Amino acid sequence: MASSSTAVQAEAFPDGTTDYIPLRKGKTDIRKPHISEQPMTLKNWYKHIDWLNTTLIIFVPLAGLISAYWIDLKWQTAVFSVIYYFFAGLGITAGYHRLWAHTSYKATLPLKIFLAAGGSAAVEGSARWWSTGHRAHHRYTDTEKDPYSVRKGLMYSHIGWMVFKQNPRRIGRTDISDLNQDPVVIWQHTHYLKTVIIMALMVPTLVCGLGWGDFLGGFVYAGILRIFFIQQATFCVNSLAHWLGDQPFDDRNSPRDHVITALVTLGEGYHNFHHEFPSDFRNAIEWWQYDPTKWAIWIWKQMGLAYDLKTFPQNEIEKGRLQQQQKKLDQKRTTLDWGIPLEQLPVISWDDYVAQTQEGQAWIAVAGVIHDVKEFIQNHPGGKALITSAIGKDATAIFNGGVYNHSNAAHNLLSTMRIGVLRGGCEVEIWKRAQAENKDVVTIRDSSGQRIVRAGDQVTRINEPVSSANAA
Ligand SMILES: [Zn+2]
Ligand SMILES: [Zn+2]
Repeated sequence: MASSSTAVQAEAFPDGTTDYIPLRKGKTDIRKPHISEQPMTLKNWYKHIDWLNTTLIIFVPLAGLISAYWIDLKWQTAVFSVIYYFFAGLGITAGYHRLWAHTSYKATLPLKIFLAAGGSAAVEGSARWWSTGHRAHHRYTDTEKDPYSVRKGLMYSHIGWMVFKQNPRRIGRTDISDLNQDPVVIWQHTHYLKTVIIMALMVPTLVCGLGWGDFLGGFVYAGILRIFFIQQATFCVNSLAHWLGDQPFDDRNSPRDHVITALVTLGEGYHNFHHEFPSDFRNAIEWWQYDPTKWAIWIWKQMGLAYDLKTFPQNEIEKGRLQQQQKKLDQKRTTLDWGIPLEQLPVISWDDYVAQTQEGQAWIAVAGVIHDVKEFIQNHPGGKALITSAIGKDATAIFNGGVYNHSNAAHNLLSTMRIGVLRGGCEVEIWKRAQAENKDVVTIRDSSGQRIVRAGDQVTRINEPVSSANAA
């Protein structure tokens, strides 16, 4: 038997993290090659299964579901099951997750004991084990070192990562020195199985049995089936919250926001926000979003049980949101036709331009840019005559207010018709001057390098109407 002092000794790494060393000494030697490194075959498949986990999250719930067929559900037991569901759920969300894994607030001793008891009632491992994996999940999201990476499949991230053995040395290292100094965490970890039997099964059985004579119903409904629902619900944070919903803050990784995930996980469904701002005690930042875990922490603060609630500055949150919106706009922009970029257009002399129009081309020059309007003449809202009269001329002034001050949409549409730029001459000078006066026109580019053309900033737009230049 190893003494507890040697058991907590862990290998230290230069980044300040330490290996996760089990407090209880297991039979497996961590130096030997791990079973998960060998391919699964008909002969060794059973060695790949974590039978304790599988019993707790699959076989026991299955037995509960089957036995429920013969056992009547009393209304008192049903009500208590829901209350106990919230108690165990908060143990995970407010305790394991927001308090211990992320230290997003501080809790007094009575609250810590309450949360650890709730966590044990949920049967999802000890707070120490759970938080270690969760810190690795945040540090190495979507990578090989993420213990429940959704990239390995939705079912794997939901339940497979617990059913199949994982090599603990492959999971990313995290620092849990703070948890090792928390007496509640260490006590719950070392007495974990006892706490599970008491909190998950004995307490609900006794409450229902002594309260209204429903021992069996208490055991099956408030015990086993309630565990099954809370497990499946919180597993959804690892699966559904990385798969379903929007990404208002960052779309480089898998976490997503969705109200359905929030509803089943006591408010943990705003997971895109949570991965961006993990030390915020809130997961939902709008008052109307469903985050009962946040409300509970806030109430505990009013009761003096919780303190030092951490929030990210709203300014930083809005910056993140704006940048993601900008990225989405940029993606949308690349799908639209903005006309051939000016630098890619052939340079055409004024004489060639005029000669081409005399040979039947329907070309119109506006602000030094030549446009082919042949297909558009029939559709010109101002009629065929006006547009035809501009062919072969410098139409800069008439387009910009001389005859009609064209709309922003007209400038946009015109740019999709451009086929060349005029060499020299005052038309190009006008274009150059427009660029010089409004340097942003040529310098603003989005994240993908695309030029951003803002309303009113098209090259064909001359803000002060110019007198028609004598080009010839
Ligand atoms: Zn996550
Ligand atoms: Zn988290």
